[in-house]
Amino acid sequence: MSKPVPLIVGAGVAGLWAAWRLATEGRESLLLTKGTLSDSATAWAQGGIAVALGPGDSPAQHAKDTLAAGDGLSDPEAVDILVNEGPERIRELLALGAAFDRAEDGRLRFGLEAAHTRARILHADGDRTGAMLVRCLTAVVRHLPQITLLEHSEVRRLVSEGDRVVGAIVLDSSGRPHGIPASAVVLATGGVGQLFEVTTNPLGATGDGWALAHEVGAELRDLEFLQFHPTALKLTGVNPAPLISEAVRGAGALLVDSSGRRFTLDADARGELGPRDVVARAVAEADAAGGAFLDARALTDFATQFPGIHAMLRGAGLDPARDLLPVATALHYAMGGVSTDLDGHTSRAGLWAAGEVACTGVHGANRLASNSLLEGLVFSDRVAREVAGERDSVRIPERLATVDADADTGVDAAYAAVRQEMREIMTRGVGVVRTEASLADAQAGLTRLELATPATAWRTRRQLSVAQLITRSARGRRESRGGHRRADFPPRPARQPL
Ligand SMILES: Cc1cc2nc3c(=O)[nH]c(=O)nc-3n(C[C@H](O)[C@H](O)[C@H](O)COP(=O)(O)OP(=O)(O)OC[C@H]3O[C@@H](n4cnc5c(N)ncnc54)[C@H](O)[C@@H]3O)c2cc1C
Repeated sequence: MSKPVPLIVGAGVAGLWAAWRLATEGRESLLLTKGTLSDSATAWAQGGIAVALGPGDSPAQHAKDTLAAGDGLSDPEAVDILVNEGPERIRELLALGAAFDRAEDGRLRFGLEAAHTRARILHADGDRTGAMLVRCLTAVVRHLPQITLLEHSEVRRLVSEGDRVVGAIVLDSSGRPHGIPASAVVLATGGVGQLFEVTTNPLGATGDGWALAHEVGAELRDLEFLQFHPTALKLTGVNPAPLISEAVRGAGALLVDSSGRRFTLDADARGELGPRDVVARAVAEADAAGGAFLDARALTDFATQFPGIHAMLRGAGLDPARDLLPVATALHYAMGGVSTDLDGHTSRAGLWAAGEVACTGVHGANRLASNSLLEGLVFSDRVAREVAGERDSVRIPERLATVDADADTGVDAAYAAVRQEMREIMTRGVGVVRTEASLADAQAGLTRLELATPATAWRTRRQLSVAQLITRSARGRRESRGGHRRADFPPRPARQPL
């Protein structure tokens, strides 16, 4: 590749789609991931994709549900784009070969999920939607000559010239740094779950995109709004925590405490299908008081409906037809992120963001289940069209110099205990329920860890700095709203049932 092309960082739904769209617009791109193509949250998505294409549904109804979940902080314009452009993106996906589950008459089958007022969730192979998506999109991008694909390539830092981001320093699989000039950099690096002790997110979800953007002065926002999933399988020492999708509760599984009592009804009349944050807090309380369990014994066709989850449970020695399944809350999704406009442009020239790393304003204070894959598709599409339109208008240096400190010296390996302590601090102090005291403790603990970590352990330092940013944001929001619950600030009156 001679002339600088757009550099897409991350190969989940947002990165793969951006590369594909750029190719359809006649533009080359370099798509890289620090892992393999199957190391992304996208590949693990179980539940599905929400889209207003089912009988009796409409974009307006989808928007209404999304805004209700966002608890007053979603940007109505961003939501409008999501729900109105979503159907066309799904049609394009189908044309590319995406195999969503269909009813016997051949029509797409739409499932119902908590807080959606219509059946609008598309699945693939029951609970393997993400795996199908990644299979489909990687097959497409691998065959497009306009896309250069690099696995095991980690962005170490972004490079700016003047006020524009002009490329990145990338480490190859042996830790050697390379300067890659880019006509645009698109961050599609996913989430931050690995900063917490219990998370459903893959090992690569270490908040790199937030750190990279922050380091070059791009604005971040709403970092305190994190979604905790109520039903991760509780297995000591297993990271990431395996997820038991909401759809299992949708199919009739109940949440019970150690005495067998159905406890979620105390928190919300909708019980197990109440809003995710409400159910998560109820599970956290029951777990702390002796245990929380999912009782799926009454489900007769678990293995057929949820083949992936069934296999995972069997691997852990559990049989859902016989056993109560121990569950715990787990950090699942980040609503905030790198602040973008409606075309995915960040506050820095040359830098775009899409997918979970970005904050488009769609989710506000809380995400409606299954809206994130759709957001990844819709907004990466807009980013790619915008980037394609930038053609030839900017001057990018031909080479980017690396410095000695860019090389990966392997020092981070010696700081695993620091990262583990950080994860414990975050779960304890910035978890499902927060207080001024818990947040202040977390900040002090993180500062102590920062002081004990040399700059050469840069991955650890980067994670600590993102953890600090989250904690600071949570401390600054002195109210309970959406995914952010402060025990010292009483919640506003309960939401009206949908
Ligand atoms: C278990 C699980 C189940 C889920 N189920 C659903 C669901 O049913 N429906 C739904 O809508 N959402 C679901 N979600 C959320 C959804 O999967 C994610 O929000 C979405 O897939 C994020 O896509 P993305 O492209 O932004 O990032 P990801 O898919 O996470 O991809 C991030 C990419 O960035 C790369 N990367 C990160 N840092 C660097 C770096 N420094 N250098 C190079 N590469 C880097 C990673 O290697 C990876 O390729 C689920 C999430 C999880 C964890």
